[in-house]
Amino acid sequence: MSASKFQEIDQILRAHQRFAILGHVRPDGDALGSQLALALSLQALGKEVRVWNEDGMLEKYSFLPSAQLLTKPPSTPEDFDVAVALDTAIQNRLGTAFAAVRSAKIWINIDHHLSNPGYGNVVCVDTSAPATAEIIFHLIKTQGLPFNRDIAENLYAAISTDTGSFQYPKTSDRTFEIAAELIRTGLDVGRLNQQLYENYPRRRLELLRELLHNMRFQQEDHVASFSLTLKAAAELGVLPEDNEGLIDHLRAVRGVIVAVFFEELFDGKVRVSMRSKTEAVDVCAICQKFGGGGHSLAAGARVRGTLAEVEQRVLAEVCANVKSLKAGLA
Ligand code: 5GP
Ligand code: MN
Repeated sequence: MSASKFQEIDQILRAHQRFAILGHVRPDGDALGSQLALALSLQALGKEVRVWNEDGMLEKYSFLPSAQLLTKPPSTPEDFDVAVALDTAIQNRLGTAFAAVRSAKIWINIDHHLSNPGYGNVVCVDTSAPATAEIIFHLIKTQGLPFNRDIAENLYAAISTDTGSFQYPKTSDRTFEIAAELIRTGLDVGRLNQQLYENYPRRRLELLRELLHNMRFQQEDHVASFSLTLKAAAELGVLPEDNEGLIDHLRAVRGVIVAVFFEELFDGKVRVSMRSKTEAVDVCAICQKFGGGGHSLAAGARVRGTLAEVEQRVLAEVCANVKSLKAGLA
């Protein structure tokens, strides 16, 4: 990301007073941590901030410093000088948080998704960043914006979760350097990792058992998938946040190239979550065919239809992609 882009954003941040810091529906660690980090930095500058997403704070991330700042949006829209959308590939994925901004003089779009079309007045999209939080870190550090241990903890949680604990391919030497700089503010990495990865409710494992029970392999075991029905979710009492990361169990199998998770939703749609192990199968492109988006190795979509219909259509597309990859390699 160019220095002039960060300068432009810095000038806007310093020149205005009232900010909406927004993130996507069904938030993940990167969205929540990036939102809180930027909000805390702006608060330290004396700015007034609202930090919203459609679902509010998730139980499992409620240990993050100043987690209480992050709420569901109010039903009555408010006016802002500046609205900042973080980690949100398309404006539509802000959901009710978008509707709660009646007006904003300037919209800033800070993100790392390949499928981001560049909405807003100021666009800061870096698809090489493994997490939006890395971009926020650079913005804060290059522009001398307020930085402290609470901000660092939010950024660390965001980067750790969006890189799959510093494993995914976009994790770079810079990512580790940033992590080191964050830790130097006094973070307790052992405690933080326990809160992030060893504090799941028992029902999450029960959900995994249900998913593994119906997993299937296709295309010479290169395509693995599992599904969650509304009925099973209700019986297990699971929350939407419980399934974050479970798809990694499928991707982790030797030979698997693409992993797919289908989740039946209340609104007659199915949430599709997809992971690839190789740039040669771009799951962002596949998901875009179904109205979704994301990154080349991690993407998703919400597809109208019954669970069986969506499984059939999406898996046919995935299998065709894997088949043509294999044909190309042969
Ligand atoms: P996940 O599978 O973890 O929900 O999402 C993987 C990636 O795909 C995330 O970066 C997320 O932003 C993106 N993504 C997931 N669902 C959708 C969707 O319905 N539409 C778009 N545009 N992106 C999505
Ligand atoms: Mn992200």
